[in-house]
Order: sequence, then structure tokens, then C-alpha cells
Amino acid sequence: MDLELKDLINSGIKGLTPYEPGKPIEDLEREYGIKKAIKLASNESPLGPSPKVLEALKEVISGINRYPDGNGSRLKEALSSRHSLSADTLTLGNGSNDIIEFVARCFLTPNDNAVYSKHAFAVYPLVTQSLGAQGVEVEARDWGHDLQAMLDAVNNKTKVVFIANPNNPTGTFLEKNEIIRFLEKIPNEVIVLLDQAYFDYSNYETEDVPFSLVNNFPNLIISRTFSKAYGLAGLRVGFSVTSSSLADYLNRVRQPFNVNSLALAAAEVALNDTEHLEQCLKLNKQEKERFYKFFKSHQYHFIKSFANFISFDCKGNSNKVFNSLLLKGVITRSMEVYKMPDHLRVTIGLPEENSAFMESLTSLKEI
Ligand SMILES: *Cc1c(COP(=O)(O)O)cnc(C)c1O
Repeated sequence: MDLELKDLINSGIKGLTPYEPGKPIEDLEREYGIKKAIKLASNESPLGPSPKVLEALKEVISGINRYPDGNGSRLKEALSSRHSLSADTLTLGNGSNDIIEFVARCFLTPNDNAVYSKHAFAVYPLVTQSLGAQGVEVEARDWGHDLQAMLDAVNNKTKVVFIANPNNPTGTFLEKNEIIRFLEKIPNEVIVLLDQAYFDYSNYETEDVPFSLVNNFPNLIISRTFSKAYGLAGLRVGFSVTSSSLADYLNRVRQPFNVNSLALAAAEVALNDTEHLEQCLKLNKQEKERFYKFFKSHQYHFIKSFANFISFDCKGNSNKVFNSLLLKGVITRSMEVYKMPDHLRVTIGLPEENSAFMESLTSLKEI
């Protein structure tokens, strides 16, 4: 008899649709014969990594025959001193995506549910489903998290609530006080993952929740990443801050060497190159204003963003616009999986990349 894998596979995995990343530049260039394609699809930093990181990597690379420091002690030290934290509150991840997995694996079973907002990060439903737990999707308000509705959705099966702030793909932002009020109301037994992947961008304009909040809320996990504003997406490194007892559990499910030696060294250097970070934030802010102006003058509705991307409304034409932009060598992101079929998301790139996007979009409208 033929092996029926579908009868063996964990039920959560059976119906899983893998995360679909933004189209890589190489794929577009190969498939369409396009040269110099522009990728504005994955919220990467257009400036690239800090030159100091590149310098440091040259030294580390000759040592890659050795395993990395499994505890990531030096990076933890750098993070602790930067943020005045005790090192045992830190958990390092292979990207902050790893942290999301740890949280799910530590707390979710097929008897539990996890609550998240309708247009929030696509990985939350994925990890929930992969563990056979039930996902509870809460209707959004003005495209962002409706914290009251999320509170109302919490029941005695809820183990985890996922909140992205700023949110991807909408760029919406919850004020510090709203989050604190939410934490005060939610039962202690419910773990709250506050995903601050775009913290650096939001902090530029307004104030987000500080790490010290984990002292007041033992059920709170705050995660951040080096993938976005620090420009290290390809190396995969992120971290979380929690109470030390929660960190102890998260670290139990971590692979022994989950963060590689290049990533550890790069993150440490990137953390200290505040000048490069500032440059990235400044560019983002400046170019975001240009995007806003452009969208307004071309009558595209867009969602005000506290991050490094903007979702805009293509009024029922998003597929056509997406494909036409592709043919012009500009990669944006379809919002189909985010249940925003009319929108596309564009990452704020370098001035010339953004200009290319704007020119391409303008020329489509004129046809
Ligand atoms: C990009 C992103 C992440 C994860 O990125 P990593 O590269 O795994 O650190 C997490 N959450 C949100 C909301 C994101 O957009």
C-alpha cells in the first residue's frame, strides 16, 4: 500500500500554507528579462548595513569553522548595557521570527487559542496553526488593532495574544497608554507578545512601550529585530525582553546555536552605530513625506504609517497595478494574504527607487 503522508502528518501542518515572501530581485530579472529591478517588497533597509558591520564581518568570517557562542553573551551584554537590562531577561532569536516560534511552542497546544488582529503579521496565524491551536482573528479598527475587541475575544482557552506595534502591513500604531491599559485589563494567564519589529521607526515620531514594562507585567514579551532599521535582514537576528523566568522557558526551546557567529558580531556592531541608524530613520522620514504627497496628488488613499512602508488603495485594481509595476521592474507586495485585496504595500526605499516607483505608477494611470 502506498504511504499516505497526509494520514501521518500533524493536523495543524496539513492545512498550512507557507509564508510567501516578497519576490526576490533575481527571480524577477530572470523571469521577465528585466535589468536593475527595484525591490520595495520586504521592508528592508535601503541603505544597507552599517559600513562598520561590513568591516567587523571580515574578521569574524575566518572563524566560521567554529560554532558560535551559544549564549550570545557579547551581544546580550551590549543589549543589556544599551537598555539597562539584566542579561537574563534576554532571549536571542534567528530573526525575531524565531522568538514568535518560541512563544508559540512554549504556550500553545491544540487545546488553546491565540488572538490576533485581522490585518496583522502573517506569521501569527501560521505558527498558531502549525501547533494545532486555534487562531482567533479579531476585526480591525481603522486598519489597526482594536484592543477592546481583542480583550473581548479573550476566553478561557486563550494563551497568547499577538500585537505588532507598529503593525505590518498597515503601519498603524498604538500609543503607549493604550497598550498599558490593555495589559492592565488582560488576565495574567494570557501571554502578550508585543512585536516591535518597526520600533525604531515609530520611536522617531512618538513614544512606544519601554522594556521596563516587563517588570510590571510578567506575562509580557517584547520582541525587536535587527532586520529592519539596522539593515541585517539577511543575517537573521532578533531578541526578546521578558521577565527572567519567562526568558528561561523561551531559551529552553531555542536551538543550541540558533544565532550564527556573523549575525552575533554584526548585531553588536550595528547596535553601537547609532549614526547609521539615524541616517536610515532620517531618510525614511523624509521619503515618507514624499510618498504621502505623491499619493495625495494622484488620488490614492493610503494608510498613515509609523514604519518604513505604506499600504495604498488601488481601488479594485491591485493585481493589475502589481503586475504592471513588476513589468516595469518595481516589486511591491500584494496584500491578498492580509485580507486587503485592494491594497498594495510599498517599502520606502532610496530616493531614486521611490522616484522609479512613482513614475511607474503615474505612467500606469495615464494608460
Ligand atoms: C519583519 C517582521 C518580523 C520579523 O522579522 P525577522 O527578520 O524575523 O526579525 C516580525 N514581525 C513583524 C511585524 C515584521 O514585519
